[in-house]
Amino acid sequence: MRILQVSDGPDVRPAAVDPGGAVRMLDAWIDGQPEAWLHPEALCALDRRFQADYARLPVAREVRGRVVAPVAPAQVISIGLNYVSHAREAGLELPPEPVVALKSPHAVAGPYDDLPIPEHARAVDWEVELAVVIGRRTQYLSGPEDSSARIAGYCVANDLSDREWLLARQGQWTKGKSFEGFAPLGPYLVTPASLPDPGDLSLGCWVNGTRMQAGSTADMRFGVDFLVFYLSQFMVLAAGDVILTGSPGGNALGRPGQAYLRPGDRLVSEIAGLGRQAKRCVRAPAGVARTRAGPALA
Ligand code: ZN
Repeated sequence: MRILQVSDGPDVRPAAVDPGGAVRMLDAWIDGQPEAWLHPEALCALDRRFQADYARLPVAREVRGRVVAPVAPAQVISIGLNYVSHAREAGLELPPEPVVALKSPHAVAGPYDDLPIPEHARAVDWEVELAVVIGRRTQYLSGPEDSSARIAGYCVANDLSDREWLLARQGQWTKGKSFEGFAPLGPYLVTPASLPDPGDLSLGCWVNGTRMQAGSTADMRFGVDFLVFYLSQFMVLAAGDVILTGSPGGNALGRPGQAYLRPGDRLVSEIAGLGRQAKRCVRAPAGVARTRAGPALA
């Protein structure tokens, strides 16, 4: 099942794509908090009902300009260096355990929202990634085999980072990853029943029509089930939380001479079976006045 969230004035309303490709409003069937409807068992029941009875639901009018992120996570957890190709380009060793960074949940954006580029972010880089959405409170799992019962579904993400704030401004990666709009999610939350193998999906990212990233989740160093299990050992995961599982190579960082994202650029991110994001980069209001210019990124 492919579920999306559509803004309607001040409200955000759930919807789903029917087998014919039409978007049907789900309000009548989804009521309540994410902890209720994102629970994997609730989603399975919703999926069965939808397949049997979707024709009863109203078709949404023209939704594209109104699609927001499919979930509003309290936590966005970014896994670093999880693809051999990306670690090699970054000049870093493949880590023996997952590298974990937190990204501000306020960085979450919709799949077609403009991407704001502030003047003091001079090295904004793309990272198309498979996002895992947690479906229920999860802590201290016994092993990776327990993870699938905790997953609500998957979506396309781009783990945008400003490389200068990430690498040259001291401290943790959170600085480079948390700018407004740097965690676009969606368009859809795709439930596990509709995505049998998240470990074998092709990913791609295009800038101004040029393909920059091409990879497969089969190349992930640590797979989805292991990551959920691993994170649960030292943090609580809650319904709606999002894990960004790492990015293949092809970032600007790994391409000598490649320009970073600038206002006017077009960014497309796609994962087979999960859909496609398309964004325009725009100049964000300058916020540089009280910010010391960082050392140049080599
Ligand atoms: Zn990343």
